[in-house]
Amino acid sequence: MKKNIVIGAGFGGLALAIRLQAAGIPTLLLEQRDKPGGRAYVYEDQGFIFDAGPTVITDPSAIEELFTLAGKNLADYVELMPVKPFYRLCWEDGKVLNYDNDQPRLEEQIHQFNPRDVEGYQQFLAYSQAVFREGYLKLGTVPFLSFRDMMRAGPQLARLQAWRSVYSMVSKFIEDEHLRQAFSFHSLLVGGNPFATSSIYTLIHALEREWGVWFPRGGTGALVQGMVKLFEDLGGELILNAKVERLETEGEKISAVTLADGRHFPASAVASNADVVHTYEKLLGHHPVGVSRATSLKKKRMSNSLFVLYFGLNHHHSQLAHHTVCFGARYQALIHEIFNSDALADDFSLYLHAPCVTDPSLAPEGCASYYVLAPVPHLGTADLDWDVEGPRLRDRIFEYLEERYMPGLRDQLVTHRIFTPFDFRDELGAHLGSAFSVEPILTQSAWFRPHNRDSRIPNLYLVGAGTHPGAGIPGVIGSAKATAGLMVEDQK
Ligand SMILES: Cc1cc2nc3c(=O)[nH]c(=O)nc-3n(C[C@H](O)[C@H](O)[C@H](O)COP(=O)(O)OP(=O)(O)OC[C@H]3O[C@@H](n4cnc5c(N)ncnc54)[C@H](O)[C@@H]3O)c2cc1C
Repeated sequence: MKKNIVIGAGFGGLALAIRLQAAGIPTLLLEQRDKPGGRAYVYEDQGFIFDAGPTVITDPSAIEELFTLAGKNLADYVELMPVKPFYRLCWEDGKVLNYDNDQPRLEEQIHQFNPRDVEGYQQFLAYSQAVFREGYLKLGTVPFLSFRDMMRAGPQLARLQAWRSVYSMVSKFIEDEHLRQAFSFHSLLVGGNPFATSSIYTLIHALEREWGVWFPRGGTGALVQGMVKLFEDLGGELILNAKVERLETEGEKISAVTLADGRHFPASAVASNADVVHTYEKLLGHHPVGVSRATSLKKKRMSNSLFVLYFGLNHHHSQLAHHTVCFGARYQALIHEIFNSDALADDFSLYLHAPCVTDPSLAPEGCASYYVLAPVPHLGTADLDWDVEGPRLRDRIFEYLEERYMPGLRDQLVTHRIFTPFDFRDELGAHLGSAFSVEPILTQSAWFRPHNRDSRIPNLYLVGAGTHPGAGIPGVIGSAKATAGLMVEDQK
């Protein structure tokens, strides 16, 4: 029987497969790796559990909706625990901001940085809430298939001054440089340069304030497992170790998919959660549409890559918060280099994940699992040999963390592994090793982003970070809603 096929079991692919299956459309989910999750893969080593990617879970309502529409209860599948503070932000001059949605406590801290910024922050919050209502609640799950859709959103985008960058908008309200960093770094979480990305992305601040920051008991991997179980409980089929090599076509329609090992699955419709360039260049490279789409996609700016270092210690650093942002000495200049320079900077800013603060079960008794990441240029920006640079950067980061945040770290080390731009490219098929796909600048957003349904091949759809609205768990779950709406409608 011909089925709907979803290629890739990242958050976007899983959410789409659940929506299709819940709508009564038999769906087959094909994942090339041995585990589902995509960027949310899980590594296990000597009793340490490492979530590979997303750890800051926001907008639980979008996740809950997947379970509700399937007639199930999220809580029966996975427990989401609140995380407070949302983040601890630390600077090299010793300043610290514990940021969450406790308004009086937040204002008290802002006052210590700069009394005038308390009012500025209130104005910024109101702005980011307005963007959140327009950009996320109204448009985040609507597919932008025609330029008319874009024109309709135009007046709102103009009113919200969407042409300004995140940093420029934050600076309009806030004077202190630390606070400007604290309220502008968020776009980096979805691969956006705060100095180039549209101020629309300040909505992430309001989104966190609205619904909080959460962490699944058992790690992000437990949420992935919960979604897989939901999909299978609905009768959906997931096949792992199933690398799709080719989308078979009959004229301007997809008729089947063929795997690298020769298996062949007839398809009535196909949605790709794989990298968008990979989808058109590799899977559809034999068809004129694949060739022309790949050519134009390769002209787009891709977001940065990441260097990720996972490590297990025989010591629990209880002084740490669950999420810490360690700002380096430079902000604007460093970010400029990450997005534009062909070399690796001598300094870095880091995000440090300490999940055992919330869930000690992620490591053996008395031990703790961690990961630290540094944004780095993608392979098109800096053509570095990560087999050489990776171990060097690892050593520099360990030294830095030991000196400033985790005394004794290197003596406490039990295990570690790294994930570099090479791995984004080779393990995930990410074009240029980008961590977040197409860069979220205004001219690559909404209608300007690869569409949720191909305009020339009517039964080919996209879902995930490379399509509308973009990267991040709320983004890709939103993309699944937009894409599922089209697929269900098209099959009526
Ligand atoms: C280190 C890191 C930390 C992050 N932290 C956060 C965070 O805290 N909060 C947040 O909201 N977001 C975070 N993000 C962003 C977020 O993880 C991603 O935007 C999101 O998970 C991407 O989901 P996706 O649906 O686009 O698919 P992906 O996760 O990219 O999955 C795509 C899947 O397709 C599979 N695939 C590819 N090609 C084929 C093929 N040919 N055949 C079969 N399968 C194929 C891949 O193996 C993969 O499993 C982070 C990202 C990274 C890398």
